[in-house]
Amino acid sequence: MSNITDILHSIPVDPLTGAISVPVYQTSTFVQEAPGVNKGFDYARSNNPTRQVLENLVAKLEGGHSSFAFATGIAAIDAVVKSLSAGDEIVAVDDIYGGAYRLLTHVYQKLGIIVHYVDTTDANNILEKINEKTKLVWIESPTNPTLKVSDIQHISKIAKAYNALLVVDNTFASPIAQRPFELGADIIIHSATKYLGGHSDLVAGIVVTKTKELSEKIKFIQNASGGVLGPWDCFLTIRGIETIDLRVPKQSASALKIAKWLQEHEAVDQVHYPGLTTHKNHEIATRQQNGLFGGVVSFSLKEDTLEQAEQFVTQTKYFKLAESLGGVKSLLCQPCKMTHASVPREKRLQSGIQDSLIRLSCGIENADDLIQDLEETFSKLISKQTTLI
Ligand SMILES: *Cc1c(COP(=O)(O)O)cnc(C)c1O
Repeated sequence: MSNITDILHSIPVDPLTGAISVPVYQTSTFVQEAPGVNKGFDYARSNNPTRQVLENLVAKLEGGHSSFAFATGIAAIDAVVKSLSAGDEIVAVDDIYGGAYRLLTHVYQKLGIIVHYVDTTDANNILEKINEKTKLVWIESPTNPTLKVSDIQHISKIAKAYNALLVVDNTFASPIAQRPFELGADIIIHSATKYLGGHSDLVAGIVVTKTKELSEKIKFIQNASGGVLGPWDCFLTIRGIETIDLRVPKQSASALKIAKWLQEHEAVDQVHYPGLTTHKNHEIATRQQNGLFGGVVSFSLKEDTLEQAEQFVTQTKYFKLAESLGGVKSLLCQPCKMTHASVPREKRLQSGIQDSLIRLSCGIENADDLIQDLEETFSKLISKQTTLI
């Protein structure tokens, strides 16, 4: 990331009043002196001063040319896919975010966009599907919920050789842990609902563009399709970003501590966390993630059943049972019954999502309290088993 001092002080002091906090411009339109003569704003779908501050901030945070704020992460993804035409192809990571899979498969496929899903942790799989019709290579790194990591720099070279753009969904790493533009990405996506907002109090999405040409394309779609983020949610996202440099390192440190602890636990089968030396992609994760591996850890149980995992996720005290991640309060979920319920079991197992898989999103509580919560929950499970016997 760029220097946090520069980031914070790039947020302008309000020129009218000196307010240090960004004003919420809750307005639909802007009064003009004469037709077309205005102060740079005419109608709030096209532009809004609060949104402009957020968009400039995220562009700076990621080191891009511009960024564009949308009503949700999915709306941000949608805006990028809309830049394609019928017959164009996408090569996408196989365990792409479920909502993105639904959008690509059930909305865009019938409009003539062809998507090939491959395991992008091995770049040879991309080479098998990429061709002259490929316009986008779409990766997430790390992925959800098994935290697979792909080599962004290597993949960017493959995409360039075919004149395709590389899109990196940087939601799971956050701009604090990973700088996709420096690794060759052309477009970065954020579900700002997660680490950027950071407080589980909004849904939002951002597209960050590397070049002026791409910025003009996305700006056109943002205005033409209209899925913009409202001024109040822009304000909350700015406010969240102001502390991201404190939150993500703490969440990552807790997650690493918890992952190591889980690895030693007798009731745990596999632990997925790129910060563990046993993780399949640990080496590349270390190289491209600034030593921060994010706040999400997932693990499966020795007693690998849906029921056992359900018992676990309903008995924790601090880890609240809910979808989403990246907030200051810890959450957990059972992907097979929640986020990945629509994925057929066979396909889930192929991508390492065992029946008992549990996903943790570590917040900013004390790591030892979180570990104690997990320990107590494990002991409840064990005591339930013994009472059954
Ligand atoms: C949550 C998420 C999205 C979708 O964002 P919403 O804000 O929920 O629409 C996209 N990509 C990833 C990796 C996510 O985790």
